[in-house]
Amino acid sequence: MSVALMKWTGSDTVSKALEAINAWEAFEPGTNVLIKPNLVMGGSPKISCSGITASPEVVGEVVRLVRKMGAGSVVIAEGSVELPTLKLDTAAAFKWSGIQALAEKEDIPLTDLNKGPFRTFELSDHTEIEIAKAVLEADFVINIPVLKTHNQTVTTVCLKNLKGCLSTESKKKCHMETDLNRAIAEYNQFIPCHLNVVDALTATEIGPTPTGKKDQVREMGLILAGKERLECDVVGSFLLGCPAEEVPHIVHYAELIEGSLNLEEITVIGEDPRQYSVTLEYLSSWLEDMMEKYAVVGMRMPPYGNRLCSACGFNLWAGLFAFCRAHQGTDIQGAELCAGLDVTPSNDTPTPVLLGKCAIQENKGVEGAVKVPGCPPDPAKVTEILTKALIEGEMPQQ
Ligand code: SF4
Repeated sequence: MSVALMKWTGSDTVSKALEAINAWEAFEPGTNVLIKPNLVMGGSPKISCSGITASPEVVGEVVRLVRKMGAGSVVIAEGSVELPTLKLDTAAAFKWSGIQALAEKEDIPLTDLNKGPFRTFELSDHTEIEIAKAVLEADFVINIPVLKTHNQTVTTVCLKNLKGCLSTESKKKCHMETDLNRAIAEYNQFIPCHLNVVDALTATEIGPTPTGKKDQVREMGLILAGKERLECDVVGSFLLGCPAEEVPHIVHYAELIEGSLNLEEITVIGEDPRQYSVTLEYLSSWLEDMMEKYAVVGMRMPPYGNRLCSACGFNLWAGLFAFCRAHQGTDIQGAELCAGLDVTPSNDTPTPVLLGKCAIQENKGVEGAVKVPGCPPDPAKVTEILTKALIEGEMPQQ
């Protein structure tokens, strides 16, 4: 097989890329199409969604093309991060990304995959995961990821984007009850995907969500398309400066399907990926960036790895953002913030802080720790408890 890598010259770049890979070969009139863009989360209208969610221009062009090919029905479907305390859900993501406006203009139904119904599958370690039936029952699934490095999975392209097809509970299980990278590889064997159109208009550093860093989103100006998700992931990860051999979920998937990770073995039609590859970080330093922005010193957060749910990560980000903003220029004088199942406070830390149910349960023996309960912890509680403990010197009743 082959992939197409085309320089963006307007929305017709999508049709040129799809023609180049003979994308419509098996497409019959009357086909029911499901489009799964990357709409990871909703957000404030004050923050740009560029490089975080799939561009409406790319998604809109795919809609136009499948209709031209005689699709029987077209639906846009996603299961975004759900955080009720922040009023974030799939509907918020449709709105923030501009996909809701596109859907209204083009009269396309939107489906929230988090609402099910689901079919249950078993991973090789017997973890049960639920996949939305809407995806399993569509005749033709088109995956539209956004090119990003990812603070837990190194990169996120086609394979990782399909995590949005899982129930919210199953997304959580991927972090907490099984190995995230292996789970991504294995659920991709259950989820159909006939075509991948990677929105590589941008290359985003340390995704999947905004970090607030000025240059987080870089211009790339490309569309990458292919029928085979592994090939797109190999090329996409290379563009992000992360060879596929160093991206565990891609390695596992290649092993499962006996595919190749070798870029040289992929026929790339159009642009040469070597001319566009950038070097991006993937490990998150969001707390350091936030502290620098608000001149707060004296806190640190050890890397939490994969065993922390996305919901926890988002809520901690929101709670700590409000905390840093409220206490600009403050020296906290030594607090170590621990979250997830794998992090233990160091012996020399003056104030250990345990964020969320998992960190509290895993560190029961740690004395004098500030504890922020919740699963995930509420952002307002994070701010409130840290303010009491780290600013006012009052240990909240726990
Ligand atoms: S506390 Fe956080 S990491 Fe643990 S299960 Fe709840 S949301 Fe996930």
